[in-house]
Amino acid sequence: MTLVSMKEMLQEAKQKGYAVGQYNINNLEFIPAFLRVAESEQSPMIIAASDRMVDFLGGFKNTARMVETLYEELNITVPVALHLDHGQTVDRCKQAIDAGFSSVMIDGSHHPIDENIAMTKEVVAYAKPHGVSVEAEVGTVGGQEDGLVGGVQYADVHECFRLVKEAEIDALAAALGSVHGPYQGEPKLGFEQMEAISQETQVPLVLHGGTGIPIHQIERAISLGHAKINVNTENIQAWTKAVRKKLSEDEKVYEPRLILLPAIEAVGNSVKEKIREFGTNNRV
Ligand SMILES: [Zn+2]
Repeated sequence: MTLVSMKEMLQEAKQKGYAVGQYNINNLEFIPAFLRVAESEQSPMIIAASDRMVDFLGGFKNTARMVETLYEELNITVPVALHLDHGQTVDRCKQAIDAGFSSVMIDGSHHPIDENIAMTKEVVAYAKPHGVSVEAEVGTVGGQEDGLVGGVQYADVHECFRLVKEAEIDALAAALGSVHGPYQGEPKLGFEQMEAISQETQVPLVLHGGTGIPIHQIERAISLGHAKINVNTENIQAWTKAVRKKLSEDEKVYEPRLILLPAIEAVGNSVKEKIREFGTNNRV
């Protein structure tokens, strides 16, 4: 088996009441860390490259080849999707699909709803024949999004309904108070709107900004239709903390491998914790 779309994994998760984590690649070493944990936990997994990170990672093709090759080299057997996070344009999504990504997000949330729907429809039309799943967004996730820093704007229920029905997407990111990056105080998720959106659309929901949301709120979000939770900040904080510790404890170290090994282990442990928190372990 090779990379798969996230459609089936999200439908199964929603039906059985757990959520699949999305973990973002920040450099090559993140990929084996993610894959090894997915395999040892027997967990389905969504590995993502954020559109704004793709050039840093060496482009769409390089990113897809790295994940595909490591999937084979490490003898991974669990289902893994490679997803484009916050695809900025229709063309960027098409490039990702052509390069071998098995899932894409088109983020038209900063455009008026009619434009958002039109962009999303175009991506779905291209993705479907390739067996690639599509996520789209309504509302605004707080903090850093596509390089824009902004306040939270809650998703409108009717707009969500239109986007899901008209564009026939596989997953919906309805922004309901979550934030990219650290939270200031306790997150205020809109659970009432969440319930209404889930009932109206029946589509698996995606929670962006999963870092720092207390477990009771995560569990409630899952029970109200969330089948995918995106986590990045927590993993990269663990990575940086481990690098900083290694450098301060060992002033003579200069070999990158020795500096990075504890960081890779820290990322693996961070993801393992999330997999268990979201109930994704032993689901394969
Ligand atoms: Zn996001």
